[in-house]
Amino acid sequence: MQLEEDHLGPHLNGKHLRPESLMMSYGYNPEWSEMAVKAPIYQTSTFVFKNAEEGKAFFELAYGLRQKEEKEELGLIYSRLNNPDLEILENRLRIWDGADEAAVFASGMAATSTSLLALLKPGDVILHSEPIYGGSDYYIKNILPKFGIRSMGFRANATAEEVEELVNKEGIGEKLAMIFIETPANPTNHLVDIEACATLAKKHSTEAKKVVVAVDNTFLGPVFSHPLKHGADLVIYSATKYIGGHSDLIAGACAGSAEIIKAVKGMRTFMGSMASPWTGWMLMRSLETLKIRMECQARGAETVAAYLKNHSKVEKLYYLGDLSDNPQQEAIYKKQCSAAGSMIAFDIKGGEKEAFLFLNNLKLIKLAVSLGGTESLAEHPASMTHSDINPTDRAVMGIGEGMVRISVGVEHPDDIISDIEQAFAHV
Ligand SMILES: *Cc1c(COP(=O)(O)O)cnc(C)c1O
Repeated sequence: MQLEEDHLGPHLNGKHLRPESLMMSYGYNPEWSEMAVKAPIYQTSTFVFKNAEEGKAFFELAYGLRQKEEKEELGLIYSRLNNPDLEILENRLRIWDGADEAAVFASGMAATSTSLLALLKPGDVILHSEPIYGGSDYYIKNILPKFGIRSMGFRANATAEEVEELVNKEGIGEKLAMIFIETPANPTNHLVDIEACATLAKKHSTEAKKVVVAVDNTFLGPVFSHPLKHGADLVIYSATKYIGGHSDLIAGACAGSAEIIKAVKGMRTFMGSMASPWTGWMLMRSLETLKIRMECQARGAETVAAYLKNHSKVEKLYYLGDLSDNPQQEAIYKKQCSAAGSMIAFDIKGGEKEAFLFLNNLKLIKLAVSLGGTESLAEHPASMTHSDINPTDRAVMGIGEGMVRISVGVEHPDDIISDIEQAFAHV
C-alpha cells in the first residue's frame, strides 16, 4: 500500500501530507528488506548488477552518456555515487523545503565546499553576508581565490539598498555568480532578507548567466524557515546541528531544483564528499523527531530569553523572538521565519572576564561549541567560534568580548534558568 504522489510529494484523500507525517516510512518499501518496518543500514561499498547490460545502462546514466528513458531510475552502482540510505534520506529531506531534490554530505562544510565548487568558476565573484560560519568564511576567503574566485562581504543587517550600492560601487555586477547568505547570522541572529537577495540576483542575471542565491539555513531550517519559497535557489545545512540533533554525528545537506542538485551531486561524486550509509541511517532516525525537538527547544528558548531580557547582569539580548526595537529586522522576521528558534546570545555586563566566570560556573549547560542538539550548550564566540576574525571586523559584526551564545536544548526551561541564575551569582 503505497501513498500516491505528485511533484509536490505524497498525498492522501487529495491532500498533501505534512513533512512530519512522512519521516517514519516515506520512500522505503519493506519488501526491499525482509519486511523490516525500518530501512536497514545498507553497509556496502558496491552493488551487484543483474547482468552486464544492466551495468552498462546504469553507467550510461551515471556518466550522462544518454538521457533517462521515461520512468527510468538511476540504478545502484557504488556507494560514492548512491546508496539506499542516502537516497531515502534525501527524498525525505527535500520534502521539508519543498525542493525537487536534496543531497547529503559528510559534513556541513562538505555540503558548502562541494556546492560552491560545483556552481562557481574562475573569474566569478561571490557576494556573501557577514558574519558567516567560520569554516565557510575561511573557505570563501582563502580557498576559493586559489581557483580565481573572488568574494565580497556585506553586513548581515545591511539594507537591500546598501547591498545594491556596494555591488554597483565595486563594479562586480557583471562577474557576480552567487549570493551566499547565512540567516539568521551566527551568533548575532541578524536576519538577511532572502527575497531582496533574489531580486538583486535577478537584476544581475543574464540569459547566459544565472546568479544563484544560496542560503545556509542551519539555524532555523528546515522547520522554521524555507528559503526556496522566498526565491533562493539552494539551501545548505550543517546536518550536524538541528537535523542530526543529538550531537552524535557530523553531516551536511543541500536542497534545490533538480538542475542545481544534479550539478552538486556530480561534483560530490568526484570530491567523494557524500555521507556514509551509517550517517544516513542515523539522520533518518533523527528526522522522525525533528519537528518536535525544534518546537520544544524553541519554546524553551522563549522562556530563557524572557528571563535574560530583564536580568541586571545582561547588557543586551540577541533573540529573534524580541525584535520590537528593530522594525527593519522585525519585518524580515515576519516575512521569512515561522518561529524564533533556540539560539540565544547575550552581552554580559563587563567583558571576557565576566563571560568566562559565567561559563566556568555552569553546571547543567555544557561549555562547548556546536548547537542544535538535545542538550543545552554555551560558548564564548569572540575567543572560540569567531576568534579567527580580526577584532576590528568582529566589533563591526557586533561580536563583543562579553558575548555568550547559548543553544537551548530540550531540558525543562526552569532547570536551564536555575543553572544560568547560579552561574550569574559567581559573576
Ligand atoms: C556548524 C555549521 C556549519 C558547518 O557544518 P559542519 O557540519 O561542522 O561541517 C556551517 N554553517 C553553520 C551555520 C554552522 O553552524
